[in-house]
Amino acid sequence: MVKENLAFVEQKISDACKRVGRNRDEVTLIAVSKTKPVEMIQEAIEYGTVDFGENKVQEIVDKTQVIQDKVNWHMIGHLQRNKVKYIIDKVCLIHSVDSLRLAQQIEQEAAKKNIICPILIEVNVAKEETKYGVTVEETLPLITEIAKLPHVSIKGLMTIAPYVENSEENRIYFRKLHQLNIDIKSKNIDNVNMDILSMGMTGDYEVAIEEGATLVRVGTGIFGERNYNI
Ligand SMILES: *Cc1c(COP(=O)(O)O)cnc(C)c1O
Repeated sequence: MVKENLAFVEQKISDACKRVGRNRDEVTLIAVSKTKPVEMIQEAIEYGTVDFGENKVQEIVDKTQVIQDKVNWHMIGHLQRNKVKYIIDKVCLIHSVDSLRLAQQIEQEAAKKNIICPILIEVNVAKEETKYGVTVEETLPLITEIAKLPHVSIKGLMTIAPYVENSEENRIYFRKLHQLNIDIKSKNIDNVNMDILSMGMTGDYEVAIEEGATLVRVGTGIFGERNYNI
């Protein structure tokens, strides 16, 4: 089933790119494998998927021990400062940085390992109370501070749009994040590169691509519904 779903999502991504005149290679699909077993991830790897998203530190640690294939792990969930050290050298990108304190912790751990850690700033564009992320207004000041950290490299922005029945309702939020990305890019801040826009999930990735997403994070659409009770 995973391979059929991947083929379906792949087609939807190509169609969305075509609609707005973008090249398919401008968009990377991240298969969000949180709560899903290693066997399903292996199936996706066989299909050709190389980017996987997880939201729990322990799960990343466990899965990277078992899966030896060269794949890219993305940390897409809320990250506690005391857990940064467990994943810093296992993930290719941390999507969920929303405070200077977290960035400083990443700086400390990255310096210890002599690496530079790529990150995105999570923006709560829709101002939902239940979600993490900084406001649109807080984003530039935060980036200006984080840019001073030598072992942290800002690559762009991420958002989790509201859960909606009609994905069109999220278009304004994707557009707003894209515009914010452009505004910040135009400031040409040292050590900041705004090439990544991580937005769009199973319910709304096509709209997100139409609005400029470069990374889409699709879980349910690839691996099926998640069961949190097991
Ligand atoms: C779970 C999750 C996703 C994937 O959600 P689906 O609706 O299953 O596609 C994407 N992004 C983040 C941050 C997530 O936590």
